[in-house]
Amino acid sequence: MYIADVLIEHPVNPLDRPFSYLCELPISKGIRVKVPFAAQSLVGYVESVAETTLSEEELEEENGYPLKWISEIIDEKPLLNSELMQVADYLSKITLSPKISCLSVMLPVQFKPSSKNGVGKKYERYVQAVDRDDLKLTPKQKACHDYLRELRRPIRLKEVPYSAAILKKLAEMKAVDILDVEVYRNHYLDIKEKEGWPQLTLPQQKAVEGITNELKHKVCLLYGVTGSGKTEVYLQAARKVLSQQKTVMMLVPEIALTPMMVTRFKERFGPAVAVLHSRLSQGEKYDEYRRILKHEVKIVVGARSAIFAPLENIGLIIMDEEHDQSYKQDSAPRYHTRDIARFRAEYHRCPLVLASATPSIETYARAKKGTYELFELKKRINNQPMPNVTIVDMAKEVSAKNYSLFSRTMRQRLQECIDQHHQAILLLNRRGYSNYLQCKDCGHVVKCPHCDVTLTYHKDEHVMKCHYCDYTTAPVTTCPNCHSRAIYPVGYGTQKVEEMIQKEFRNAKVIRMDVDTTRKKGAHEHLLKAFEKQEANILLGTQMIAKGLDFANVTFVGVLNADQTLNLPDFRANERTFQLLCQVSGRSGRGENMGNVVIQTYNPDHYAIQSASQHNYLAFYQKEIQYRYYGNYPPYCRMVSLEIRGKDEIIVKDRSQQIAVYLKNNATHATVLGPAPSLIYRMNDYYRYRILIKYKNGEGLINALNTIHQHYNRERKEKVTVMIDFNPYTQI
Ligand code: ADP
Ligand code: ZN
Ligand code: ZN
Repeated sequence: MYIADVLIEHPVNPLDRPFSYLCELPISKGIRVKVPFAAQSLVGYVESVAETTLSEEELEEENGYPLKWISEIIDEKPLLNSELMQVADYLSKITLSPKISCLSVMLPVQFKPSSKNGVGKKYERYVQAVDRDDLKLTPKQKACHDYLRELRRPIRLKEVPYSAAILKKLAEMKAVDILDVEVYRNHYLDIKEKEGWPQLTLPQQKAVEGITNELKHKVCLLYGVTGSGKTEVYLQAARKVLSQQKTVMMLVPEIALTPMMVTRFKERFGPAVAVLHSRLSQGEKYDEYRRILKHEVKIVVGARSAIFAPLENIGLIIMDEEHDQSYKQDSAPRYHTRDIARFRAEYHRCPLVLASATPSIETYARAKKGTYELFELKKRINNQPMPNVTIVDMAKEVSAKNYSLFSRTMRQRLQECIDQHHQAILLLNRRGYSNYLQCKDCGHVVKCPHCDVTLTYHKDEHVMKCHYCDYTTAPVTTCPNCHSRAIYPVGYGTQKVEEMIQKEFRNAKVIRMDVDTTRKKGAHEHLLKAFEKQEANILLGTQMIAKGLDFANVTFVGVLNADQTLNLPDFRANERTFQLLCQVSGRSGRGENMGNVVIQTYNPDHYAIQSASQHNYLAFYQKEIQYRYYGNYPPYCRMVSLEIRGKDEIIVKDRSQQIAVYLKNNATHATVLGPAPSLIYRMNDYYRYRILIKYKNGEGLINALNTIHQHYNRERKEKVTVMIDFNPYTQI
């Protein structure tokens, strides 16, 4: 008899420890089983198995209760290979998350421990003739049978030019065989393969050489301005790695960017490429995942969770736009893709390439120190000039009595661009119609009843929405405070700007791209295709349009409000502003015509805005690294943030203070800041406090955090929970 330790994903409670079950046979670790649990039958994941010589009675005596039996074995083989099992352990360790929740993010939904989902393999019916002459067939049946015989191969049932009734009869007589053949769901089928490879420029050659000359473990930074040919470096490095019978993992930060990268890889490598991102249908994901398991794939292109793909024999991992914050998962387990990538690259002893036009401060600092190998592409391909950037001081517009969202310069340049039949990209980092509705008489602002934030008016759907909890309600027509009817939308969102452009510019045709217009599957691709085909001359959107896009006809980029990211209460606010401005500027002038950029701001002298306008990363880096040094921020320290949340305001405050005291007493090397109320103090009816910890050496700290995690989250001893986030990227 054997005892299996099984991890269980419970729909309500996080059960962060294995439970013991009995089984007759020595099942393998890593498979899923069904087990009885508190009067339910749940799916669990076998973590370990050990033989026992004790009887059931003796085990009961030892445990104090009778052990139950595993009721069903689901998988024949372990779902994760031994490397990915180690990744799961590592993930659990660095995020202090239950192993079961780590497995859940690592596996596609059909393989998740709790999955009861019906998506499976997809089959198509094929038909093949049986070589027989002993049958009495009608002329029509004979014609059909002859047709299939001559083909000498199975053909899709749908393609047979004879009726279903005839085929049915033939099948009954055993004159044909009907076969179910597995087909893969794949919506990238129409990408044509390209012949030939462009001649690399010298800096590109150096990068490809340097990265691939020896496939040992190292971390490289490929720092290249936008349009400098980084993607071509990925492609040719991948080709070299493939020629050595190894595989490649290509990560991109966002779904919006995936189509372009997928196209470029599929053009070169055809069906050897698998694509993984959250916007695929479950069937597509399942198929791609199994194609990887069956070694039919040499390259995986995908967003964050693709880092967990069961690719074997990896020879190269590339992270495009390595600075991008969407590489950080913002729900548990809160991992940074870079950490997992480094772990896997070390395991496979292969290079990890971090690439960006605006590397994160931490990464560039490491490259400068020599910890990472640095490769640079300083110029655009064909020495194309960088766009010409104009900073507009919005305070001066106001003094000149221009109260519009469009400065005079912006207005003029945008119209010129349209008149020349070029295309423009406009960035406004706020979706919806207006920021909020406000009463002109008493100043009352309409807020979410569950959160401490204003409700955003969405004109499209004619509703007010909370962007934090999704609370949605009909727009008020009278002031809830003074009953005045003078309730007006204040501020600008993408919907309102779209409306303004249509009204105020000649021949303007706008495509709007934001969370609201891209909810549907395939919507990103669809909108970008339409813009590429020049069905519109203005692409207006939130930050999702800032990156990766390569449209030759775009000669103007306008940033409507550069201060939005600058004013975020986050030590990375300068960095994010600089990155965003560089990225979005880089969309302009990628074709034959010179590009122009206009940035509107109330902080025209800020170094993030100044250095972005000069395309000067190093100038920005030098200022920013000083700020990090004097403020003691990463890379000079590490950070972890705690969010203490609960429904009882007094208890939340009290426990937050206790936790801070406990940390100060037990993590003596760390600096403990707070507790302070979170930026949005109440969210979704939960009160929230925040503690920020800066540290260099995590020794005492990690133990203390584990104790806190055990007490509040595992054992649920209090009416609050503590969210622990290492290397935090959000501070709301
Ligand atoms: P990045 O990824 O750095 O923004 P890309 O790789 O997209 O730059 O390159 C910008 C443009 O230059 C693309 O249209 C690409 O096809 C082209 N390109 C890149 N490398 C070369 C090369 N060696 N010769 C000719 N064209 C190139
Ligand atoms: Zn009012
Ligand atoms: Zn809300």
